[in-house]
Amino acid sequence: MSQQMGSQPLGVLSDESQRASGEDAREMNLSAAKAVAEAVRTTLGPLGMDKMLVDSMGEVVVTNDGVTLLSEMDIDHPAADMVVEVAQTQEEEVGDGTTSAVVLAGELLGGVEDLLDRGVHPTSIVQGYAQAAAEAQNVLEEMAIDIDADDREYLKRIAETAITGKGAEQAKEHIAEMVVNAVQAATREDGTVDLDLINTTTFTGGRIADSRFVDGALVDRSPVHESMPTELEDANVLIYGGALELSELNTDAEANIHDPSQLEDFIKRDESELDSMVQTVIDSGADVLLTDGAIEDRLQGKLAEAGIMAMRRAPDDERALLARATGANRVSDLDNLSEEDLGYAGHVKQEKIRVYGGSRNAATERTTVFSDVAGGESASFILRGGTEHVLDELERAIEDSLNVVSAAIEDGKVVPGGGAPEMELALHLRDFADGVEGREQLAVEAFAEAVEVIPRTLAENAGHDPIDALVDLRATHDAGNTSDGLDANTGEVVDMTEDGVVEPLRVKTQAVESATEAASMLLRIDDIIAAGDLSTGGDDEEEGGPGGAPGGMGGMGGAM
Ligand code: ADP
Ligand code: MG
Repeated sequence: MSQQMGSQPLGVLSDESQRASGEDAREMNLSAAKAVAEAVRTTLGPLGMDKMLVDSMGEVVVTNDGVTLLSEMDIDHPAADMVVEVAQTQEEEVGDGTTSAVVLAGELLGGVEDLLDRGVHPTSIVQGYAQAAAEAQNVLEEMAIDIDADDREYLKRIAETAITGKGAEQAKEHIAEMVVNAVQAATREDGTVDLDLINTTTFTGGRIADSRFVDGALVDRSPVHESMPTELEDANVLIYGGALELSELNTDAEANIHDPSQLEDFIKRDESELDSMVQTVIDSGADVLLTDGAIEDRLQGKLAEAGIMAMRRAPDDERALLARATGANRVSDLDNLSEEDLGYAGHVKQEKIRVYGGSRNAATERTTVFSDVAGGESASFILRGGTEHVLDELERAIEDSLNVVSAAIEDGKVVPGGGAPEMELALHLRDFADGVEGREQLAVEAFAEAVEVIPRTLAENAGHDPIDALVDLRATHDAGNTSDGLDANTGEVVDMTEDGVVEPLRVKTQAVESATEAASMLLRIDDIIAAGDLSTGGDDEEEGGPGGAPGGMGGMGGAM
């Protein structure tokens, strides 16, 4: 490596690569990143608007969810991508607050531009922002309220806050109730929540309010014989990984073979052996039988006579799910069947659900619902909504809501919403700035200014005067009313905890952390070297960045 990186064009770069340095690079990055933040700003809060995204294939997504929006937008600017990552990190770490995190990142970058104009060195800004962010974490911790993980009413409020403003809001109390039930079902003894236990099945048609939560599992099967029961109480569940038929008749057995235990099916059986297998099932006390393979007609009749609800050809994942839910062992050899292998469900019911296809022709889907189960390793949502789009947005709202409730249970700490924590931060950080030496002080002040973007945007999106709202909010926080925020509907300042608008502490701490990181990272970059054309979209396309943003990095050539 003989060549030093410097302001001279690098001889080592190929002709196609492009480079921007110093202020040019920074300016390009800042404006692209800010444009992304600007694009999601109008969706923030309970009265935020939705966005409709149409991809090149004509697929439509309607959403209010920050991370979904940004992931669906066709963003191909490296700096803009870093802002999208803020949303993704927020989604992974907390599952809510994605719009807030991105809007905050955008505003921090706006602050950066001002500071640079005033001659503050990027390093001082990075350091000032870091100090402000660290202090912000303290302030947030301090204002957090401890909650009791068993306090259902409180948990419901947290769930509702996350749903507010989403398409599913009409049924928010009902959804919040379901979500709290689901999270409680998925809470382990040690207090952690395993959201992976929660399954969701959607059925187009009906109303959102018809959606249900079942502490159990759904199996997409029906009893094989018409005289079998379609509803059972106190049911023992047997899950068998084989078939009940003569194997040479099983023409597609070859395609079905998954594990060595199923080899058994290949061994030629005679009828008497099958009869004794069925007798074993009956004698075991099983009320429900779920098999991997087929069940011969004659044997279906025998099982029906014994009052057994038998379902066949259940795929591996379905058998695994039902085993976890009911506490059953998956049996591959009926000869060694023991009582412990059976699972239990207090209620089993075959349901017929009216659905509408794309053509809006009504159809009926059958599914069997196992509830009041013994294994407890499964919980299920049955979601209804008029159209696919409604269901998609409902699923996203439920996901956000599940995430916040579980974060609140795990951490046991919440903060008021409606811009309260951000206003509290702004006030504290302004004080804190007085004690900060040097140019960093200006950066801390800029940070304090930037966090106010949340209450300001909440007011704007609700159609209220943002300046009045901020003045009122500042005054009341100045007077020590920590949990005052903006009532989205009236624009009035109210106590958010009394109003029941609360969010997990983690939503806020994570947003501050990732927004600060992204802003600092972008700020440290003084050189962009791209292997190829840096201008997004190319010459032949008008389409710029998101929200009519400056379409990428035009003018790069001059820097080379
Ligand atoms: P995010 O993706 O950041 O969660 P949202 O659109 O869900 O974006 O908006 C979250 C913001 O809306 C938070 O600041 C939250 O406190 C606020 N909010 C939610 N419900 C209310 C309400 N009823 N009144 C005032 N603010 C609310
Ligand atoms: Mg939210």
